[in-house]
Parts: sequence; structure tokens; C-alpha cells
Amino acid sequence: MFSKILIANRGEIAVRVIRTAQRMGVSTVAIYSEADREAWHAAMADEAYEIGPPPAAQSYLDIAKVIAVAKARGAEAIHPGYGFLSENAGFAAACAEAGMVFIGPPPSAIRSMGGKSEAKALMADAGVPVVPGYHGEEQADDRLSEEAAQIGYPVLIKASAGGGGKGMRVAATPEMFLEELEGAKREALSSFGDARMLLEKYLLRPRHVEVQVFADSHGNCYSLFERDCSIQRRHQKVIEEAPAPGLSDELRRRMGQTAVAAALAIGYVGAGTVEFLLDGNGDFYFMEMNTRLQVEHPVTEFITGLDLVEWQLRVAAGEALPAGWANLDINGHAIEARLYAEDPANGFLPSTGPVSHLRLPEAGPNLRIDSGIREGDQITVHYDPMIAKLVVWDLDRISAVRRLSKALAEVAICGVANNAGFLERLTAQPEFAAAELDTGFIERHERLLF
Ligand code: ADP
Repeated sequence: MFSKILIANRGEIAVRVIRTAQRMGVSTVAIYSEADREAWHAAMADEAYEIGPPPAAQSYLDIAKVIAVAKARGAEAIHPGYGFLSENAGFAAACAEAGMVFIGPPPSAIRSMGGKSEAKALMADAGVPVVPGYHGEEQADDRLSEEAAQIGYPVLIKASAGGGGKGMRVAATPEMFLEELEGAKREALSSFGDARMLLEKYLLRPRHVEVQVFADSHGNCYSLFERDCSIQRRHQKVIEEAPAPGLSDELRRRMGQTAVAAALAIGYVGAGTVEFLLDGNGDFYFMEMNTRLQVEHPVTEFITGLDLVEWQLRVAAGEALPAGWANLDINGHAIEARLYAEDPANGFLPSTGPVSHLRLPEAGPNLRIDSGIREGDQITVHYDPMIAKLVVWDLDRISAVRRLSKALAEVAICGVANNAGFLERLTAQPEFAAAELDTGFIERHERLLF
């Protein structure tokens, strides 16, 4: 095992990684920007170094600076968390060049899944079902509208370089196509500097079901079951749970096997997530693979009893995964809600300022709270305005839903607007309790939720 690692991240995920490292007796190095001098993750690590001004591009995303600190402090490996440099193949390669281990997959695997179009083509070749659509090189407007007509409306226009729901538009009819295409291109260009688009059949009321996979460097790869992340707002996840309600054992097995095949096809190592859309007929389609730890990984940890960060470290250090992972059982049900400093009454605009009062329910065996901020900390414009993740566990789903509602009701925050009330009303919807989940849930219940 490593004796020292650097965590190239901030907020709740940096805190969460440091916790596991400390439990394993691995010494930790944190990095922080000028805006994060008082941040929890910096205080918690064994050592912490300031690396630049608040904008991430000049601090958390500055590859040369991050590596220089890791080298100077004698870190043997770097954990990238999620976001920031976690899916940057150049960073993974730079770590190796500097003689350090990148705690994640090889650069080639990151590259394979880096573009949605390339990833889809690759998966189709590996026999993984993909949503019917067009993911070719040719990008002329008339070519794209011909392809859209072929696919059949409604059509989803998606930025190949996209993420976080950006650069994604639905064209309901041929008349709308060019206008939506222009809109998607504009957004993709400003967000990702890349206007390449792919087209997909827009599925009606699908579920977002993703499989957690884990591979080691000895050729073993296992599924750690799935998560249902259908409760989304504007294609961004709001509530996630494991296992996905109502899946037959047979479908679960098939989705797991498909996800493992996808990972093996690209020589994957470490923790990864294969995202699928699942329709009402039990057909599922590959959307993308996230080559990192996901925000929602704690629900999988609850139902498997595994610490995924611990296994990321072990695999990165060369250890093989236990063969027993082929026969894991699902234990109970876990649900996560993302608590954000954002204002539901004002278009969910991020809310910045000091968190002058922060009361979260008390954590325990059935309630886990992953947070990167403490009372008095600032939510700034520079980073993701997440306050905490509330994760509950119980023997069955309905008990877990009740626990989550109760936990959300106990949240009290002053200083910044937040979505606790919105989440509480969401979990109180009878259709949520009845697990009637699909990606249109929030839109359909809008009137009741605001
Ligand atoms: P991003 O990387 O921007 O998050 P994804 O490709 O992962 O984009 O899609 C995000 C969400 O958009 C999905 O979880 C789903 O709700 C919706 N979505 C994506 N593709 C389709 C599709 N073909 N039909 C219907 N909904 C889709």
C-alpha cells in the first residue's frame, strides 16, 4: 500500500477520500486554492498546500502545479476525486511520467470513453446495445437533418464532448431541428470548445440505470450492481438509489454482464460506471461510461458493505480483487439526496455567501452524511455549490424513503438558499414512494414541488 497520496480535489469528495486514507494508515496531502484557505479538506489532511487563485483553471486544474506539489511532498499516488482532472487522460499520463500512480484507469481507457460519439461507436463494435442514432464524423447541417429523419422524431441532439446535461436539446419535429441544432452547438462550443454533435432517438419516459463496475490490473472485472438515477432535473441527477427498484434478477444480471463487457473492451482498471437508459420493455441502451468515482457511489457502498475508495487505492497499488465479488449479495436499500446551495424559487440559481448556520441530522448506521463544508464556510461562485449528500439505508425501500424524508426535514440552513424543502416534498410524493421512477418525474410533478 502507498504510504502517502495527494488528493487533487476539494469539497466533500476530498474529505471523503481523506477519511478512508486515514483509516488505512495512508498519509494525505491536500491542495487548496486561495478561496479554500479555511476549507475542511485542507484542515483534515496531514499536509496541505496552496496552489493558486480561486478559478479552478489556475489551481485545481493546473496539472503542472498539482504534480509539482505531489513530487515535492513525496506522494506516491494521486486521487483525482470526481470532476476537475478525474477524466483528463493527459493528467493521468502526466502522473505516470512523473513516476506517480494515477488512482484511476489507464489514459487509453479514459480516452476511449472521452467522447460520447467515439465511445458509442466502440461499444456498438463490442456488442453493447446503444440508443439508435447517428454518431458519425460528418457534421454538415443537411447531413444531420437527414440522419434525424432516418432516426425518427423526437430526436435528441447531444454534444459529443458534453457533460452535466449541457449542449443537449430535444427536437420534437423536423421543423424544430435546425433551430435546436444551432442552440446545442452554441452551448457546446461555449462550454466545451467543441461543437460536434451526435443524434439519438429520444426515448419517452426512460429510466436512468447505471452499473458500478470495478476492475483490477490482473484482468478481473465485476459488477457491484446498479443505481437508479432517474430523478433528474434538466438531465442532472437529484436523487439516486441502489438497487434499482423492480429489476428482475435476470435483467440485473444482463445489465451487469453488459457493463463488465464494456469495461473489458477498453482495458478498464479501477472504479467506473456504465450508464444505461432502460425503457418500459426492459430494453436497455448504453449512454456513456464515467471513468471515475461517481458522486452517488455511497448508495452502492451501503448495499455492498464495501468502501470503494479503499478498493481504488488497493487496485492502484496492484492488488487483485477478491474472487468472491462474483457472488456478492445486495443488502437492503440505500437512497442519496444531493443538498445544494441553490434557489428552487429562482430557477435553481446557485446561492453564494456564508453558511452562517448549518444543522444537519445526526449521522449513524442508517444515515451517512458526506459534506465538505462546516458552519461558517463560504459557498463561492468558483465551485460546485453542493452542501452535503444525505444517504440513508434500510432493509427495504419504503423504510429508506421514510428515513430520507425525516432526515431532510431536520435540515436547517441559514445564509444561503437551499433545496432541502424541495427534496423533502419530492420524497413525500406518493409516486416516489411507489417507485414510479423515470427521467420525467420532476417535470411532471413540478406544480407540487415548488
Ligand atoms: P451528460 O453527460 O450531459 O450528463 P448523458 O448522455 O449522460 O449527458 O444524459 C443525461 C441524461 O439525459 C440521462 O440521464 C437521461 O435522463 C437523458 N437522456 C440522455 N439520452 C437520452 C435519450 N436518448 N432519450 C431520452 N433521454 C435521454
